[in-house]
Amino acid sequence: MYSIAIDGPAGSGKGTVAKGLANKLNFLYVDTGAMYRATGLYFIKNNISLDDEKSINANLDKIDIKLKYKDNKTTVYLNQEDVSLEIRTEECSRAASKVGVYEKVRENLVRMQKEYAKTNNIVMEGRDIGTVVLPNANLKIYLTASCEERARRRYIEQKEKGLELTYEEVLKDIKERDYRDMHREISPLKQADDAILVDSTDMTIDEVINEILKYRKVRD
Ligand code: C5P
Repeated sequence: MYSIAIDGPAGSGKGTVAKGLANKLNFLYVDTGAMYRATGLYFIKNNISLDDEKSINANLDKIDIKLKYKDNKTTVYLNQEDVSLEIRTEECSRAASKVGVYEKVRENLVRMQKEYAKTNNIVMEGRDIGTVVLPNANLKIYLTASCEERARRRYIEQKEKGLELTYEEVLKDIKERDYRDMHREISPLKQADDAILVDSTDMTIDEVINEILKYRKVRD
């Protein structure tokens, strides 16, 4: 099986790039952020405080998350309910990054993620794919961009969805999430030693995809 790991902060373009790569290569695309988002959503829906690690641990076995693929689209199910749209709100972004600091939450999701890679050629994106989930991935990319550019992209995305947010709010959110993701004790976001750094600040999605495809040829 061939695996490509893409890690990086929010708004770096990971999702779009990973999806595009998976399409071109006919690999399975796995969005691990969606799993953390669905986990966070479960606790919001059930009024369990995101700060209450004990209750969160005690409820993990009630959460069933499935990613299903059809017509190049990923549908995310939380206990059989389609939550693909619901998990994209800023509230869920924040919840994902809050529950992502807990060891048991991560163990649970990492186990599922490793399973995908056993039986599929995959492009998997997240924060700890190259460092923890797939340490032996064939190709590892650390995709980043300046904070301001990432906030600009997120802001446009949210506007298109009709959400009322200011650029400053999105920037603040991105900075907070970066801080939490990079400074948590377990599996913090960081570039794996053998990952290639790609800075997408001044690049289009196609340029990023083509650059990664070039690395794939060089590495093989
Ligand atoms: O990638 P996305 O922005 O959807 O991820 C949402 C949040 O989930 C991240 O900010 C991060 O806290 C968490 N996450 C994680 N590990 C991953 C993927 C996402 O901790 N592999």
